[in-house]
Amino acid sequence: MDILKRIEELEDEVISLRRDFHKHPEMGFKEFRTAEIVAEYLRKCGLEVEEKVAKTGVVGLLKVKEDGKTLMLRADMDALPITEQNEVEYKSQNEGVMHACGHDGHTAMLLAAAKVLSENRDQIKGNIKFVFQPNEETEAARVMINEGVLKNPDVDAALAAHLWTPIESGKIAVSDGAVMGGLYEFEVKITGKGGHTSAPQFSIDPIITASDIIQTVQIIQSREIDPLKATVIMFGQINGGTATNIIPEEVDLRGTIRYLYRDDENSIEKPKQRFERIVEQVCRTHQAEYEINYVAASPPVYNNPEMVKKTRETAEKIVGRENLVDYTNLAGEDFGEFSLEVPSTFFFIGTGNKEKGTDYPHHHPKFNIDEDTLLTGIKMHVLGALNYFNN
Ligand SMILES: [Zn+2]
Ligand SMILES: [Zn+2]
Repeated sequence: MDILKRIEELEDEVISLRRDFHKHPEMGFKEFRTAEIVAEYLRKCGLEVEEKVAKTGVVGLLKVKEDGKTLMLRADMDALPITEQNEVEYKSQNEGVMHACGHDGHTAMLLAAAKVLSENRDQIKGNIKFVFQPNEETEAARVMINEGVLKNPDVDAALAAHLWTPIESGKIAVSDGAVMGGLYEFEVKITGKGGHTSAPQFSIDPIITASDIIQTVQIIQSREIDPLKATVIMFGQINGGTATNIIPEEVDLRGTIRYLYRDDENSIEKPKQRFERIVEQVCRTHQAEYEINYVAASPPVYNNPEMVKKTRETAEKIVGRENLVDYTNLAGEDFGEFSLEVPSTFFFIGTGNKEKGTDYPHHHPKFNIDEDTLLTGIKMHVLGALNYFNN
């Protein structure tokens, strides 16, 4: 049977899977119900299934040719701490939790792709690992790698998709190099010496130290790093002080460093090290103490040019060359960890449609996807996998 026709037959199934996940969203590392459905579905497709990888992750292996290459296809399963404002029949039933990033769609699309690929195993000249990752919104890819997800059989390449509302439905974005930002989420605790604001000479003021740090770290992007290499250092929280006339003991700063280039040993950019140097020296200037912690970190998602070429070929077959677009952004995505280890492509499936109300940004309480684009996702996984083995 014609594969594209077979995929189209699965439209109702993929929509109902997606709506079921949407109705029962689960936070990162708590995707128990989702993981159970995923594991059961993959078993029915005849795959070898491993559960509880990185707590709630599921890995399905389609082993066809042991000595062939192994391709990994990855979807994420976690939801967000948001109260849904969409009035739809499949509205979230878990108060305060919502699939507001499209991961419900990713999981559904990859399940359907696993079904089609397992039905067409005679056309696959290697093995396919279907990786259903937990907790993407914080981080779990590195945990999966540490638990051996890229081994036995060893993964040679990886593909992953993100449904993306900023891109119009019908379009697919595939670009070379860094396509999503590297990220450090930091906390800086500045400790001074409290006192009366009338006599600053007896105190060490953590507020002026904090304001100096906020200003001075901006020279990293404007003076220290190639201005053509996107770098942005933002502060999202400042906490400190209790009254107008008290110099506080402590100020806490929290924020993010994002960048769109490789930051390895050979890189001269190193935004994290530069940030730490400035915090240290500014604190020394003010005689304050400090402590830096990183809440989360992930490298940029880096697309391998050879893999991108193949993914473009696949996308062209599905939506036509005129609907292929270039796209990069500075949001973090922990698929970056996989892209650091194996040649990868991370591509965006446009799902923004104003008429259907699916043009809200990701993480918005009215976020929704254009379900007509789910089939595009299945096609990209299936044809992308076949194309990988055919070259
Ligand atoms: Zn997200
Ligand atoms: Zn996401």
